[in-house]
Amino acid sequence: MTDSPALLWFRRDLRLDDHPALLAAASGGRRVLGLFVLDPVLLAGSGEPRIHFLHSCLQALSASTEGRLLVVRGDPRTVVPAVARQVGAAEVHISADFMPYGHRRDEAVRAALGDIPLIATGSPYAVAPGRVSKGAGGNYAVYTPFFRAWSEHGYRGPAGPGNTVDFVPGGGVEVADRVDVGELAGVSEQDPELPPGGEAQARQRWATFRDERLADYKTERDRPDRAGTSRLSAYLKYGCIHPRTLLADIKEHPSEGAVTYRQELAWRDFYADLVWHNPRSAWHSIDPAVDALQYDSGPVADEHLTAWQTGRTGYPYIDAAMRQLLAEGWIHNRARMGVASFLIKDLHLPWQVGAKHFMRHLVDGDLPSNNHGWQWAAGAGPHAAPFYRVFQPVTQGVRHDPDGDYVRRYVPELRGVAGKAVHTPWELPDGVPDGYPERIVDHAAERLEALRRWEQRPKSA
Ligand SMILES: Cc1cc2nc3c(=O)[nH]c(=O)nc-3n(C[C@H](O)[C@H](O)[C@H](O)COP(=O)(O)OP(=O)(O)OC[C@H]3O[C@@H](n4cnc5c(N)ncnc54)[C@H](O)[C@@H]3O)c2cc1C
Repeated sequence: MTDSPALLWFRRDLRLDDHPALLAAASGGRRVLGLFVLDPVLLAGSGEPRIHFLHSCLQALSASTEGRLLVVRGDPRTVVPAVARQVGAAEVHISADFMPYGHRRDEAVRAALGDIPLIATGSPYAVAPGRVSKGAGGNYAVYTPFFRAWSEHGYRGPAGPGNTVDFVPGGGVEVADRVDVGELAGVSEQDPELPPGGEAQARQRWATFRDERLADYKTERDRPDRAGTSRLSAYLKYGCIHPRTLLADIKEHPSEGAVTYRQELAWRDFYADLVWHNPRSAWHSIDPAVDALQYDSGPVADEHLTAWQTGRTGYPYIDAAMRQLLAEGWIHNRARMGVASFLIKDLHLPWQVGAKHFMRHLVDGDLPSNNHGWQWAAGAGPHAAPFYRVFQPVTQGVRHDPDGDYVRRYVPELRGVAGKAVHTPWELPDGVPDGYPERIVDHAAERLEALRRWEQRPKSA
């Protein structure tokens, strides 16, 4: 046992259980100071729903360390070394960050720490980016072979509980820009209906989903009108629960649904792996032809974008999803695909515009999953649906919301329309109900226009 504490710099690992970096920090019975830095650079790109959720996670983490968590606002490159020196930390521990900004930031912090080692243990993924590689080297650009290799590679079991760690009270540390975690709650007042953050919430959600819905996940996950998915994405994003915890549990609950759920967790690893190997792909299409396509701009394009963002396109399934985003900071996966296709192929706007809007409003907004989800919809990569496969917004609605309940939940103007007729309000005997917009574009015509632009794309791109 040594007197100098270790510093655990929490980032996207806001939990105590199954936390390899926390256990590494506390090894040998060492006391641990838990630190979180509210980094203005990351907050600037987050949007209020996600910031609120983060605050809620920090409050939960603070409570589970009996108020000992130290939260500081500032640049981690100065805050982390300053705190480490002040408490005489022997080591600084982190869960590795593989995203472009996080990786650069960690290298800068490592340099600023000088002779205090920065030790990375574990990551936010079941299998860390860079671990699954082709036999001859290089990474997988297509999901199915990645998934096969990911399964063969395997992943560790959960690291064990962290509730016996002896935390140093953060209150004793002299630091500028300390944040009172309790005061962060005020941000929520203007927020939509957001889920409460934290490890206990994540575990409870998982247990309920596992016991009540996992077995039927394979079919129910395609129904935005039903609560058929786990809604754990924001908790996974902030590490309130680790995917390995879920994977270990899944093993004990075999079903077709469990097999599918495991594949979905692998998509999350796959997209992180793609960005790790190709950071440029975070904001640029893997297929440059997609970025080189002709896109709309000007006042009409701006109006179309506003209509899409506010859920007023006149296509009920699209509008329900976009209003769900504004109300809950979340959209069902099927509906994400539908609204993304609509923005790109019906409104002829670049996927990056939609990805930015999502990142501002999603509670689970996560660079690789979001931006590669958008690339998938745009047909921009070898793992994607081809560009010429255009989603039909009415067919999508009828298929995934057959009774129209999803639309009626989020589009009050259409609540008086029964059944699946809600997907085609322009066919109602009395016309489109008051207050609901006419369609801003004709899907059939815009589909042909999208295909025309695809055929005429610059072939050299
Ligand atoms: C255009 C678009 C944007 C997206 N943006 C994000 C995002 O910012 N953050 C995000 O976490 N997911 C994103 N996704 C993936 C997916 O829509 C969400 O992960 C899922 O809807 C979250 O709900 P859930 O937790 O109930 O999912 P579940 O169906 O319960 O799935 C369990 C977990 O598996 C992972 N997962 C499931 N599907 C995917 C997928 N297609 N890609 C990557 N991981 C997946 C998530 O971590 C999810 O929480 C996006 C998909 C598209 C098409």
